[in-house]
Amino acid sequence: MYIVFFGAPGVGKGTQAQLVASRNTIGHLSTGDEFRRNIREGTGLGKQVQNIVESGALVPDELTTAIVRDALAQEKFANGCIFDGFPRTIQQAKDLDAILAESGSAITCIVNIEVPESEIVSRLLLRGRADDNEEVIRKRLAVYHDETAPVIDYYYATSKVVTVNGNSTMEEVYDSVMAALGLNVA
Ligand code: AMP
Repeated sequence: MYIVFFGAPGVGKGTQAQLVASRNTIGHLSTGDEFRRNIREGTGLGKQVQNIVESGALVPDELTTAIVRDALAQEKFANGCIFDGFPRTIQQAKDLDAILAESGSAITCIVNIEVPESEIVSRLLLRGRADDNEEVIRKRLAVYHDETAPVIDYYYATSKVVTVNGNSTMEEVYDSVMAALGLNVA
């Protein structure tokens, strides 16, 4: 099972991706978490991407796709993966299709979480992550509109998109996600 959690920054896709992964024993891969871990540990990759991540811009596709390709080789993703914050460009979406096709797999479902924009900025400010100041939030939302939002149109062509209203409590959104995935609520 390969599930993509899609949505603007602040819609709660990370929270829901983690919940669905942990309660249903599916591997969870957040490219943002991978970049932050590399920055924290001071790896070569971390040094390469630190300024980009802190500015709210996107890390180049080749670097991002390489991280995903390497990660998917791990045992914990043998039965599938929940992608959180990836793909964020049409090129990444095409790369993911190609990576999965190499092992005869394909994306099962894209969970598109929607929250009104007015709600998003206040949620992000509350979260208080290092890249959650107002200027960087604005940049991340602009990048989302320009580069990431078109990805959902790419996926609509596959008829695998389910849209969930994210403007609700964590458990209510979780139930909606599970229903949309056709899974029993765990
Ligand atoms: P996130 O934790 O998903 O909000 O990601 C935090 C930051 O990591 C983003 O603002 C980007 O700078 C970078 N990042 C995460 N995922 C990707 C991706 N798929 N493509 C490019 N950059 C990414």
